[in-house]
Amino acid sequence: MSNQYDVVIAGAGIVGMSTALWAQTKGLRVAICDPNPAGSGTTFGPACTIATYACLPINSPSVVKSLPTLLMSKDSPLIVNYWHAIKNWRWMLSFLANCRQSRVEKITAQLGDLLRQADAGLDPLIAMVGAEDLFVAEDCLYVWSTRAGFEAALGGNALREQQGVSMQEVSAEEVRALEPALKMPIYRGLRFKGTRFVLHPQKLVERMQTYFTQNGGAVITSAVSNVTPSASGVDVVLADGTSLSAGHFVVAAGAHSKSIKGAGVEALPLGVERGYHVTFTEQRQKLTRPVGWAEAGFYATPMELGLRFAGTVELDDLDAPQNPDRLAYLRRRAAEMLGPLDGPSEEWLGFRPTMPDALPVIGRSQTSDRIIHAFGHQHIGLTLGGITGRMVSDLLTDQPLAPEAAGFSARRFG
Ligand SMILES: Cc1cc2nc3c(=O)[nH]c(=O)nc-3n(C[C@H](O)[C@H](O)[C@H](O)COP(=O)(O)OP(=O)(O)OC[C@H]3O[C@@H](n4cnc5c(N)ncnc54)[C@H](O)[C@@H]3O)c2cc1C
Repeated sequence: MSNQYDVVIAGAGIVGMSTALWAQTKGLRVAICDPNPAGSGTTFGPACTIATYACLPINSPSVVKSLPTLLMSKDSPLIVNYWHAIKNWRWMLSFLANCRQSRVEKITAQLGDLLRQADAGLDPLIAMVGAEDLFVAEDCLYVWSTRAGFEAALGGNALREQQGVSMQEVSAEEVRALEPALKMPIYRGLRFKGTRFVLHPQKLVERMQTYFTQNGGAVITSAVSNVTPSASGVDVVLADGTSLSAGHFVVAAGAHSKSIKGAGVEALPLGVERGYHVTFTEQRQKLTRPVGWAEAGFYATPMELGLRFAGTVELDDLDAPQNPDRLAYLRRRAAEMLGPLDGPSEEWLGFRPTMPDALPVIGRSQTSDRIIHAFGHQHIGLTLGGITGRMVSDLLTDQPLAPEAAGFSARRFG
């Protein structure tokens, strides 16, 4: 097979585009395929935190205890559709098995290790594409309204500390001094030191794409349907039937990665955690930083498009319609947090790609060394996109990864 490209990447979200840039810096001929505009998928709608402190998985022993309530609830930060849980029982069982305390501690250590490298993957890209103006260096704040909520989080916060997360407990008065607009009850806060947030994630990915194309990268507006690896390369078939040949193929299509046949993803337990946002376009000035409200399960972030309330988890099908109850929940709790919010607003549903052990899949496919996986970044893909791209580019150029990276390989699923 004579290869048109050294590497073809499926998916132009933060993960795929970071991979494209890192591969380009290694001198590779790169094409990136996506039927949609760059950064318009899940990368469009997050809470915008560069959450290097977010090493705790959503898995926890408390989720198991509250599962019966979650299956019935319409009004909590995490809800589970009963039928979805039954249809996806394997994923659910594996998710629950990963809620054991010993597993949570192991996963936290693995995520902590990766998050400590996140800046080394992201910062060179920011400098390369000139995106410094899209970042604000301001400590992110996490707030608990109740003593019970705060005390329930102490174990998790101790795990964070073990991972070297720099944080400072702050009193209710200190929280109110930092963010005077907050109206909900406050018991305690946690300030994550030295963190930053992005003003407009899609703009960041667009800047990356501009740099990529200016430096000879190819952007192909089409989905990848299927791939066939051989000893010398990969035959990549697009949705319109045309074919590309590449030395390697990278799957970075987020929650949609299973739609690419032949890449070894069908056999993996890739699930989806649906999340929502509501952005009040004229209310950005209410806060100076992302504020996470623990009991409500979302962040409020003053980003370029307005004040964005983003978060919550809904375990339901990828193709199920948007759930108006979830958006009503966000709006109601947003008003509890900051008082009545007037003016125009925008609503969104996004799809976090999530493995049942909350670890991303980064590494060679179990079916072929020519196919590399880069998906499953759950709640922290914006933070981990850069380092994932860097690791994938090392694999593409046969540079060894740190031994701990084996824990992210698809091969962990057997
Ligand atoms: C409510 C919410 C809040 C969040 N907040 C944060 C946060 O504060 N910080 C943080 O770090 N992370 C956050 N996240 C997580 C983060 O947004 C995701 O982990 C990240 O955006 C995933 O990026 P991706 O590139 O893997 O996927 P995507 O951005 O979804 O990109 C995948 C791309 O693949 C394309 N595609 C699909 N099928 C194909 C195909 N067959 N061929 C080619 N292309 C295809 C899609 O069009 C899409 O553009 C949040 C997520 C949600 C939902």
